[in-house]
Amino acid sequence: MLLAKKYKFWFCTGSQDLYGEECLNEVARHSQIMVDEMNKSGLLPYEIVWKPTLITNELIRKTFNEANADEECAGVITWMHTFSPAKSWILGLQEYRKPLMHLHTQFNQEIPYDSIDMDFMNENQSAHGDREYGHIVSRMRIERKVVVGHWADEVVVGKIASWMRTAVGIMESSHIRVMRVADNMRNVAVTEGDKVEAQIKFGWEVDAYPVNEIAEAVSAVSASDTNALVDEYYDKYNILLEGRDAAEFKKHVAVQAQIELGFERFLQEKNYQAIVTHFGDLGSLKQLPGLAIQRLMEKGYGFGAEGDWKVAAMVRLMKVMTAGMKDAKGTSMLEDYTYNLVPEKEGILEAHMLEICPTIADGPISIKCQPLSMGDREDPARLVFTAKEGKGIATSLIDLGNRFRLIINDVNCKKAEQPMPKLPTATAFWTPEPNLYTGAEAWILAGGAHHTAFSYDLTAEQMGDWAAAMGIEAVYIDKDTKIRDFKKDLMLGEIFYR
Ligand code: MN
Repeated sequence: MLLAKKYKFWFCTGSQDLYGEECLNEVARHSQIMVDEMNKSGLLPYEIVWKPTLITNELIRKTFNEANADEECAGVITWMHTFSPAKSWILGLQEYRKPLMHLHTQFNQEIPYDSIDMDFMNENQSAHGDREYGHIVSRMRIERKVVVGHWADEVVVGKIASWMRTAVGIMESSHIRVMRVADNMRNVAVTEGDKVEAQIKFGWEVDAYPVNEIAEAVSAVSASDTNALVDEYYDKYNILLEGRDAAEFKKHVAVQAQIELGFERFLQEKNYQAIVTHFGDLGSLKQLPGLAIQRLMEKGYGFGAEGDWKVAAMVRLMKVMTAGMKDAKGTSMLEDYTYNLVPEKEGILEAHMLEICPTIADGPISIKCQPLSMGDREDPARLVFTAKEGKGIATSLIDLGNRFRLIINDVNCKKAEQPMPKLPTATAFWTPEPNLYTGAEAWILAGGAHHTAFSYDLTAEQMGDWAAAMGIEAVYIDKDTKIRDFKKDLMLGEIFYR
């Protein structure tokens, strides 16, 4: 479900025919070694595919167009081993439409002091050739990632690995389809937005369905399928009856199991990867989808509450970007709910009514069944847990009326100081960088929402690079944020992004 395609990245080395056959053979041999070694490093989430050295305008143009046409190619990594006159790259770059990396490296790590001569310099002149190439990419205003350093250095390979996930996010953004089974919550501003513009900018398809169509798919799920899933829940999670009758409790859980199966079948049949619901618009559904939505998020679906399709798409995007990550700590929708303002212990309690993804859970997960304080349905079953400790990013994509802005805040997740036995929801607790006061002030000045798409497994750089590729503003709230400078960033954004 998470990612269907087996993406690859092309490695294209630039040179020219001025240096002779022998030199070009060396160029090709070197780049093949580099590609092999980087693939063998075990650090890259996707394979790099070596391509023959690009030495002419025609070949460069042809290669970039082949990259466009190859469905599995998620981007091209370019590197100038020698000098490659950059006018020969113009037409190819003009026609290229996928993510681009400029790896500024060289084959040898150290200058061979004893043996270096003019032939060596002509063969190994990335410092020279990469500047010529970089110039034309900048002059053409093409968005690309520049990574500098020796190709065998783990830090450098790690930067390539990180960018690969951004590139896959860029590629997959235009395959995100969000199903709305409810409109935006009445009168709420920040969850609204221009869906047509979102499709133009991000490639997202956002469609509405009457809630009872999906409710019919839920009621079509058989009792035996439902009961089998309930058994799975009872195996996997702790059951917290809290004084409720065991049989009655199980009936409530079964409602969620039936919703999970019905929703998943409906989403699969209609090819959607994200969904929004609204507690005030449930049609014939007996409960607000809680446990059901939590499980769908765990499987890789995006979700937004109260009609929040932007968060649904962002959660899906971020789950795709982290696909297959070893030791991933999780990605979820969250909501800024309430503060702890005790000095030295400041932080935001993150929760929602129900819908928090269990991928962020730390330790055991339990099922509770409690009334909702809103809406008019049965008490919904939900998974409760507390989230992991560690660094993460909280993102909010907002529509400013004439354009989008992505707000990215580095946050430090902690354990809440004490258990909260009466709170029937999953929770996280974090302190935003640089501290609660500046972080929250900057967030509010930027217009950030109460819903966020959160991940432990992505960085602000990755999300900012994705935003740049989409042509939208990204603002960063992190350890370096000062309100005076931050306001200037926002002012610059007003001028630049129109
Ligand atoms: Mn909400």
